[in-house]
Amino acid sequence: MPEGDTIFRAARTLNKALAGQTITRFETQLPHLQRVHDTTPVTGRTIESVTASGKWMTVRFSGNLILLTHMLMSGSWHIYQTAEKWQRPRYDMRIVIGTEKFDAVAFKVPVAEFHTSESLASRQGYATLGPDLLAEDFDERQAAANLRAEPDVEVAEALLHQNIVSGLGNVYKSEVCFACRVNPFCKVSALTDEEIRCLVSTARKFMKANATDTSGDGITTYTGFRRTTHRADPRQRLWVYGRAGQPCRRCGTPIRSRKQGRDARVTFWCPECQREKFTEF
Ligand SMILES: [Zn+2]
Repeated sequence: MPEGDTIFRAARTLNKALAGQTITRFETQLPHLQRVHDTTPVTGRTIESVTASGKWMTVRFSGNLILLTHMLMSGSWHIYQTAEKWQRPRYDMRIVIGTEKFDAVAFKVPVAEFHTSESLASRQGYATLGPDLLAEDFDERQAAANLRAEPDVEVAEALLHQNIVSGLGNVYKSEVCFACRVNPFCKVSALTDEEIRCLVSTARKFMKANATDTSGDGITTYTGFRRTTHRADPRQRLWVYGRAGQPCRRCGTPIRSRKQGRDARVTFWCPECQREKFTEF
């Protein structure tokens, strides 16, 4: 699943290529989008902006029309120069937004909807997004308060709830808990204010560091040694994610992994650095 920083980078690239351009071609395999295009054509409109909010991407067109997409597990947006060969097969194409110089192509996006600014403001899951970790005006206190409001949820699960903070995915979840020495399976109610602050600010720090990195999609949170080659396994640049059985980079204890939560997403942690808190008798 793409994390928020990946979507952020994709939106920035699309925005650079498309903002201000006139749409010369619109194609879609999705009947509900085609119907809107048939009655109120997308072709001829200007692209105002492409932005990311958490894991959502919005393309705003002139005339109060907005395309909202969510990548979930499988979707991606590519940008090509007109007539350039696509890197994915045509049958995976769902949407093409063509301009004079560029084609933006959405492959296998599972969620794609047209909205007006009014309908978008009440769109479930979008309108209720928590503070966006990559937003300029990210509200750290609101994010902390949102976490506190879910005392019975396990920490690593809570970090994935997009109504608490938006943008964080499964890789960062484990990395952030490790960085703050918080056991990912403890309930939010067991956290101190200091730990909550650490989780929120570290989540933002990791996301921002990766959103400005233009070297690729690999997530980097561990920079204990400088990498000189991009051929290395991206997991070598992480503290715990994907490192089950390997020694903790802090204490040498083997990293553990276990499925967690409703969606059984795998969590990685160091049982020594992130000890569970025991009630004292
Ligand atoms: Zn450790």
